Amino acid sequence: MTVNDELLSGVVQKVIAELMKGSAPLAAEFDGIHATIDEAVNGAIVAQRELIAMPLAKRDDIIAAMRQTVLDNNERMSKMAVEETKFGRYEDKLRENILCATKTLGTEDIQPLAKTGDNGLMLLEYAPVGVIGALTPVTNPTGTLIHNGISMIAAGNAVIFNPHPTATLTSTTMIKLLHKAIVDSGGPAGLISSVAKPTLDTAREIIDHPKVNMLVATGGKPVVKAVLSSGKKAIGAGAGNPPVLVDETAHIRNAAECIVNGGSMNNNIFCTCEKEVVVVDEVADSLIKFMQETGRAYLLSPDEATRVTSLVVNEKGKINPKYIGKNAQLILKDAGISVDDACRLAIFEAPADHPLVWLEQMMPVMPIVRVPNITAGIEFAVKVEQGNRHTAIMHSTNVDNMTAFARAVQTTIFVKNGPAYAGIGLGGEGHTAFTIAGPTGEGMTSARTFTRQRRCTLVEGFRII
Ligand code: NAD
Repeated sequence: MTVNDELLSGVVQKVIAELMKGSAPLAAEFDGIHATIDEAVNGAIVAQRELIAMPLAKRDDIIAAMRQTVLDNNERMSKMAVEETKFGRYEDKLRENILCATKTLGTEDIQPLAKTGDNGLMLLEYAPVGVIGALTPVTNPTGTLIHNGISMIAAGNAVIFNPHPTATLTSTTMIKLLHKAIVDSGGPAGLISSVAKPTLDTAREIIDHPKVNMLVATGGKPVVKAVLSSGKKAIGAGAGNPPVLVDETAHIRNAAECIVNGGSMNNNIFCTCEKEVVVVDEVADSLIKFMQETGRAYLLSPDEATRVTSLVVNEKGKINPKYIGKNAQLILKDAGISVDDACRLAIFEAPADHPLVWLEQMMPVMPIVRVPNITAGIEFAVKVEQGNRHTAIMHSTNVDNMTAFARAVQTTIFVKNGPAYAGIGLGGEGHTAFTIAGPTGEGMTSARTFTRQRRCTLVEGFRII
């Protein structure tokens, strides 16, 4: 091949076009939703550069505006999420969004670290990674966007979301609201974005895009595997099957109250919710009685439990998606059982090999398995958690028992004597996270998770003592 002027000029034009990509400002009317992933990535690159050129105080203003817009639009967004996905409960979605708006950490989480000594000064700073691609679940379409959006931007990044296709309207509406809050508070357009029609193909485009610096997957095993096989820095927040273990020393009435509240939260749609009860035989009858006495738990007879199980678990042994996140009344009605409006949770005694003990059901139907003693209880609860390293709950007043279970189960979240949701900061201490990274170990993710560490060393001097 000979190099002539025409060929050379073509190559130069291509190179210039590539360099110019991502440097054009977005139109004033841009609302956070792009036509293509490529466009979103290029917009995000420009926005992220603008963000890091701004003072940190401006970043705080942006975060404050994001929090406020969630609170201002909470009723509308919670209603939309329930209507579109048909998962969860309106009043619990309200709580989910308030939790994420108020208890997601901001820039306070990326405070630098300084160390001085005989050899001078070392400064460690938490720097942005750049552009993050975040894949979000249908189960918490609003909570995950709010938590991820605030955390990632607090850390100085831009984020492109690929929401679950089944929650497209809710997710894109939430992204538009957050985007408007950012721009109205003086932040860069394109800092948070998505595409009008997120699909598995657009997820793949984000995963493979050379200019996306970090991937964050919140969902089931396949999506976690997809980001971890990308060759990029990836954070995986996967499925769980949280057991709640009750021993004979527990305050049983409190345990019953907590399990009914936690297990029915948002119709059990949170990955952290109690999914099966493991109880020491000696206190099993009292626990069940006290659960019934809350007025919100209905005890299924063995025959009713069989009917409900054959409804919610299909012939292939998989969860029937029709019943995920539905109200207990609806599920029970389809099984020919009528319960009053107060009922939030169906409970039943189950053998150890019952499918709902082992499947992540995400619906208010809770199996209860008796064990002869705490040793057997710990052994069994560890097995049903299945190495997800996600969440486990225990009701006990015996510190040795609690320590033994916590050590054996190795979960990211371990809740003692409270509902599981206390572990994500709802009525419990600490910040919230809706991306709980068990598989990759970042745990309750926050702004610092979405950074890379940079060190600066000044040799000799700069000490004031
Ligand atoms: P999902 O895995 O079906 O979807 C999550 C996201 O990943 C969606 O955006 C989806 O489009 C995308 N996706 C799915 N498979 C993919 C693939 N092979 N390649 C690329 N993208 C893919 O999950 P879901 O049904 O939306 O959510 C429920 C699951 O998520 C449950 O298992 C729950 O435990 C888990 N979850 C975990 C956390 C956590 O923090 N650990 C939080 C919420 C939900």
